Amino acid sequence: MEALAGRLTGVPHAPAVAAARRAIAEQRELLTGGSAAGSADPGVASPAVLLDDLVGRARALAAEAARLSLRPVVNATGVIVHTNLGRAPLAPSAVEAVGAVAGEYSNLELDLAAGIRGSRQSHVDGLVAELTGAEAGLVVNNCAAAVLLAAAALAAGREIVVSRGQLVEIGGSFRIPDVVQQSGAALVEVGTTNRTRLADYARALGPDTAAVLRAHPSNFRTVGFVEEVEIEPLCALAAESGVPVIDDVGSGAVAERVPELADEPPVRRSVAAGAALVCFSGDKLLGGPQAGLLAGTREAVERCRRHPLARALRIDKLSLAALEATLRLYRDPTAARREIPVLRMLTAEESELRSRAEAMRSELESRGVDATVIRAAGKVGGGALPLLELEGPACAVDPGPVGLEELARRLRLGDQPVIGRARDGWLLLDPRTLDEESARAAVAGVVAALRA
Ligand SMILES: *Cc1c(COP(=O)(O)O)cnc(C)c1O
Repeated sequence: MEALAGRLTGVPHAPAVAAARRAIAEQRELLTGGSAAGSADPGVASPAVLLDDLVGRARALAAEAARLSLRPVVNATGVIVHTNLGRAPLAPSAVEAVGAVAGEYSNLELDLAAGIRGSRQSHVDGLVAELTGAEAGLVVNNCAAAVLLAAAALAAGREIVVSRGQLVEIGGSFRIPDVVQQSGAALVEVGTTNRTRLADYARALGPDTAAVLRAHPSNFRTVGFVEEVEIEPLCALAAESGVPVIDDVGSGAVAERVPELADEPPVRRSVAAGAALVCFSGDKLLGGPQAGLLAGTREAVERCRRHPLARALRIDKLSLAALEATLRLYRDPTAARREIPVLRMLTAEESELRSRAEAMRSELESRGVDATVIRAAGKVGGGALPLLELEGPACAVDPGPVGLEELARRLRLGDQPVIGRARDGWLLLDPRTLDEESARAAVAGVVAALRA
């Protein structure tokens, strides 16, 4: 084993030994007829082992171990905000902003003009307020943290009133009743699963009520005999009792004039209605980094800022850099739609999608792979707009004798992993979540996978 490790020139000792040990173990298992050898490498599958094969296999294992675990993948699923695939890809200016502060010192918490300690919030709080019409803004680690902080800061030790229709689970174990409990507030449920009226809230408001919480059922819809109270009457009622409203809009809509976002609650609307705190995500339809944004009244935001949890939930500098750059793009709605990938994909023109799908099809055909362009419905994903079907052309690949599952597996394990969507035995490459470069990578991945 040491001898084998010694032949892996350029590989540090410990990983070389580990790779040699695994290569030899694989070989031993193959030779002793172990059926679960788990190697797809034909060089190793042959019982007539050559030392060169063993060295090659050990080298491959060492290279695999040296590769970063977290790496880019090609998203050909058509799901724009895919939580498993890292949610929103950033706009170029946001990527640049991250790069600029990542390897250098920065004025993260230094007031350059005054030469005194500053707040990391100062880089974005004005932008959050400006873009939402709120008096003040605050950003934390993610939207789950924003809701927890809002509830803890406004209502710990007292009561939070929530409609039974909004005691929802958003996924990744974010459940409204659990969040309220963790905040230290007592949950007061009003209404029913399908119908909650203003009078239900009115009856529940009392001397112990610290806040009313509204949660957007982001990833599902109830239909039929359903009723919820709109944000305006709810805020008006709460104001009569001097109770603040926390509105968790989840993804929310900050972009203006984007018809595809019509079913998401506009952040501006909740702010204008008088919600004390509106919470929303940075990396869903906003199209920025993981972050939780709070827009609200000066007083409520100040209470969140001063709460001890704020320190534990704070945003890191790389996300902050990306968030500032993303928010700046929103100052020009046209630039936002052009530069922010999530908005660009959401509003992509049929003609653009068709030409990309056709380009993939023709490149695949020219390399001997059967493919056709069909119509298919994509999704927004990320627990947003569950009813919105993003219909459009997609390139459907015939997996042939390799089979759909094996093709998908090979694509995941390729040098640049490609994640597609299965439909009726075809592998779909959806142009909506691909640009020219990643579409080429998807095609190259399919060609390689079918040849392997
Ligand atoms: C997605 C979502 C959250 C959680 O947001 P993260 O940024 O993932 O923490 C909270 N509330 C609602 C309504 C959501 O849709």
